[in-house]
Amino acid sequence: MGPQTTCLTDMTLPELTRYLTEMGQPAFRAKQIFKWIHQKLITDLGAMTDQPKALLQTLQASASLAVPKIRRKQQSKDGTIKYLLELADGNCIETVLMRYHYGNSVCVSTQVGCAMGCRFCASTQAGRVRDLTPGEIAAEVYTAQRDTGERVSHIVLMGIGEPLHNFDNVMEFLNLISCPEGLNIGMRNISLSTCGLVPKIDELAQRKLQLTLSVSLHAPDNAVRSSMMPVNDAYPLEVLIPACRRYQKTTGRRISFEYSMVRGVNDSPAMARKLAGLIRGMGAHVNLIPINPVDGSPYSATDEENVRRFRQMLEDLGVNATVRRRLGADISAACGQLRREDAEVTRGRQTGQKPKERN
Ligand code: SAH
Repeated sequence: MGPQTTCLTDMTLPELTRYLTEMGQPAFRAKQIFKWIHQKLITDLGAMTDQPKALLQTLQASASLAVPKIRRKQQSKDGTIKYLLELADGNCIETVLMRYHYGNSVCVSTQVGCAMGCRFCASTQAGRVRDLTPGEIAAEVYTAQRDTGERVSHIVLMGIGEPLHNFDNVMEFLNLISCPEGLNIGMRNISLSTCGLVPKIDELAQRKLQLTLSVSLHAPDNAVRSSMMPVNDAYPLEVLIPACRRYQKTTGRRISFEYSMVRGVNDSPAMARKLAGLIRGMGAHVNLIPINPVDGSPYSATDEENVRRFRQMLEDLGVNATVRRRLGADISAACGQLRREDAEVTRGRQTGQKPKERN
């Protein structure tokens, strides 16, 4: 599978249909092959038992599938599974499968690394290497479903990377994953989280998708938000919040704001009042996340009691708020803890020590 081969996993059904008809194949083959890739989740083209031998040979010589290698798999005591996946070019990403009462949800990465530079997030510490292709993002979901043998019913685009910074590929991934000939995951079961790239929020609004847009807010004033997230200098709150209102108006869908609580930074009663003032009347929902510890981050988490008080204040001020469950924290699979390589290798490099052996 050299880089010169065409990756079939990347193709939407119309694209695959064109590819095959240009090879002189009837269009119905495209539907069959699409189902093999996106519904039966094959890892080898040779497994397509209903295809003519000659076509299989041609495809095997000129095309490939996105099949990441599971380099490591860790299971949390709460049932969460974290995968370190190696892509065809040797780059690594992490993918997390979470088990909820309503079904299994997969948290996908959308880039190798991230360019956004949020100070509390491990995924951005080494910068961005490249975008993931639509098929590579889909293959994260397929790998988790194949490996567990359990159906994936929900997707969150909340892994490594800024999804709106890889807009076209992410849109094509949404097309693949929601396709009736594929896993057929409904848009209402998909959440996309952004740090707040305003022009792309407007572009997304025009698509009028039924997914849930989450916006990483984390602070109700520019000084605090800029100190946590460099993206706030480009799109400050007086630009971001009107974009969120436009998004809700255009799509008819409520936005969810993520607010990671940092002790002594954004967790005071004054901050709760400012936050309520900023988003009151939007009908938006606030998701409070006690910040997760990350190597090299200057922040520590607000204690649980304070999170509860903050939530109650928001509720009293008319803002709907919930506290996000921290799944997978014991295996560093929680928000902001995903990396594009083995954490111990990174640490070893920082400290000059060799990573510990593990079984
Ligand atoms: N780039 C997108 C997708 C990442 S989603 C975004 O910024 O929204 C991951 C969510 O976890 C975001 O809300 C992010 O701000 C938050 N997060 C990052 N690091 C965190 C940490 N250490 N503790 C808690 N939440 C964190």
